[in-house]
Amino acid sequence: MNAPVATGSIVISPIPAFQDNYIWMLTRDGEAIVVDPGDAAPVHAALRQHALNLTDILVTHHHRDHVGGVAELAEAYRARVWGPARESIPRRDVALREGDSVEVMDQRFSVIDIPGHTLGHIALYAAGIDTLFCGDTLFACGCGRLFEGTAAQMYESLQKLARLPQATRVYCGHEYTLSNIRFARAVEPDNADLAARQRDCERQREKGEPTVPSTMAVERATNPFLRCDQAPERAAAERRRPGAGSDPVSTFAEIRAWKNEF
Ligand code: ZN
Ligand code: FE
Repeated sequence: MNAPVATGSIVISPIPAFQDNYIWMLTRDGEAIVVDPGDAAPVHAALRQHALNLTDILVTHHHRDHVGGVAELAEAYRARVWGPARESIPRRDVALREGDSVEVMDQRFSVIDIPGHTLGHIALYAAGIDTLFCGDTLFACGCGRLFEGTAAQMYESLQKLARLPQATRVYCGHEYTLSNIRFARAVEPDNADLAARQRDCERQREKGEPTVPSTMAVERATNPFLRCDQAPERAAAERRRPGAGSDPVSTFAEIRAWKNEF
């Protein structure tokens, strides 16, 4: 584990898994919660290393690299599993829908429906600690692929997240930031905030540090998928397909398609 972020008495740290996944662990007073444990082994190791008891497992969507370790961990620690109502989640105890909340460690996480990457994908947002877990929907300087939903659904989901407070820390599910930034610079070569972010993130990766979490303020200034109403994004979409830059949703669809080929 590295680069823990302390939020009051809760500490949030990444447990790296597979090639580039982050399983997020929240700890307080000897107890732990994990978000999207795609693999049980590194979670077991982290819990043992710090002598923690796992009480709860939070899940954002059904993909294997986010749920692969759920059953084993739930069994081993008798942990409660919270996950999206509209997806099939192993050993789910509590089915979550927009408007529900998860009360853990004296914090209230509200459930936000964010379809697009998958149709039942949810985000969990705790205003008390300025913390958002958004799985594979909003990435640092990018967004997830449209596996199940439409571009319009994903656009609206990202807009819902973008309306959260600027100070919100954005905890996503993968370390994709540097390649996302390279693409973003192709969309917006003249964005100075983006150039600065690239330097910062390159330095972090050279030191082996995660580039996650970022903040919503940084995402709004640099993430092209949150900036589809801006002139550079609209012009980039227009260059690829005349007419595509006419509105933010078609701009989003075109830029998302470009990213797949980039
Ligand atoms: Zn996924
Ligand atoms: Fe994933």
